[in-house]
Amino acid sequence: MTAPRRIALLGSTGSIGTQALDVIARFPDRFEVVGLCAGRVPELVAQARQLKPRFVAVKDPASAAAVRSELPGVEVREGVAGAEWLASHPEVDFVLSAISGGSGMRPTAAAGEAGKVVGLANKESIVLAGEWITQRARATGATILPIDSEHSAIFQCLQGLPGDRRDSIRRLLLTASGGPFWSQPREALDRATPDAALRHPTWSMGKKITIDSATLMNKALEVVEARWLFDLPPEQIQVIVHPESVVHSMVELVDGAVLAQLGVSDMRGPIAYALGYPERLPLGLPRLDLPARAALHFAEPDHERFPAVQLAYRALARGGTAPAALSGADEACVQAVLAGRRAFRGITAAGGQVLEAHPVAPVTSVESAWAASEAGRLAAEAVIAAAR
Ligand code: MG
Repeated sequence: MTAPRRIALLGSTGSIGTQALDVIARFPDRFEVVGLCAGRVPELVAQARQLKPRFVAVKDPASAAAVRSELPGVEVREGVAGAEWLASHPEVDFVLSAISGGSGMRPTAAAGEAGKVVGLANKESIVLAGEWITQRARATGATILPIDSEHSAIFQCLQGLPGDRRDSIRRLLLTASGGPFWSQPREALDRATPDAALRHPTWSMGKKITIDSATLMNKALEVVEARWLFDLPPEQIQVIVHPESVVHSMVELVDGAVLAQLGVSDMRGPIAYALGYPERLPLGLPRLDLPARAALHFAEPDHERFPAVQLAYRALARGGTAPAALSGADEACVQAVLAGRRAFRGITAAGGQVLEAHPVAPVTSVESAWAASEAGRLAAEAVIAAAR
């Protein structure tokens, strides 16, 4: 019997965080939650009372005193520094990085610097500073295990390829559900409300990623994520629309074989794969019933209605800080849409405008990537203000 894997869960009260806790609760002998990090204080305190972690990091420094008084005996830190401290703590083996948005980057980078095994659900980390973080991970011996369902699928397909597996790969095929507006005409998209955008047809996820799925900006970010996680040039990464979300992504090899990973659309699958890697955990989820599915469909992306995916290739071609600026712009736009300050249809156009105007510089540190993302956010805020 090996010792349980000691887990720090960053973003514990979010969609991925709570689903990870559901997985962890099924295997009490394998996993021990030693640290929690989140922003929603009442939920965080409730989780800590139940799971009894040794360490807690709370997002808002102003809440730290209250959390300390609620959790006697627990070491409580606050802010980004608190999340970084937890992510690099010597008593942590596995960091599950599930903070939503760009603010997840610094703790993810800290886990990489500390040589941890990182379960990566925060794609923005890699979008902002993918080249930097993956280079540093190779230097420190950190392992990055993707939790994004598409990248987990590709990672699973690549297991067992010999030597430098890139020699065997012709292209990665990232599947996209198309989101709630895929089958709707352009006019319907122009009238779309945030509520309609939040009704994703196949996946249950957090708000930011659900809006990003409706614009296909999520897929754009995932193209950038795949470029750095698998160290392949953009021309070897393609998006294919697959509305049923049964095939979670594919790898085409040089001999023409196409490997695919299929399953029910339940994020607990990729979460459990990362947590248990390289072992497979008997999760007990509903099984994929292929005869009941009858048919699976695939289509080329429609770049006219959904121009976001092409922005990813544009950002990668511009290089350096361009993807970080695009990601920051998208965050500002999604926040504006969720707050009712901007119509849904303007997100991609604003992202494109910010991307073209962004003065590209090399990413030389996580700080430089963060600064570019903030510049993108501010530029998008200006575009939003001008459009009102
Ligand atoms: Mg995904």
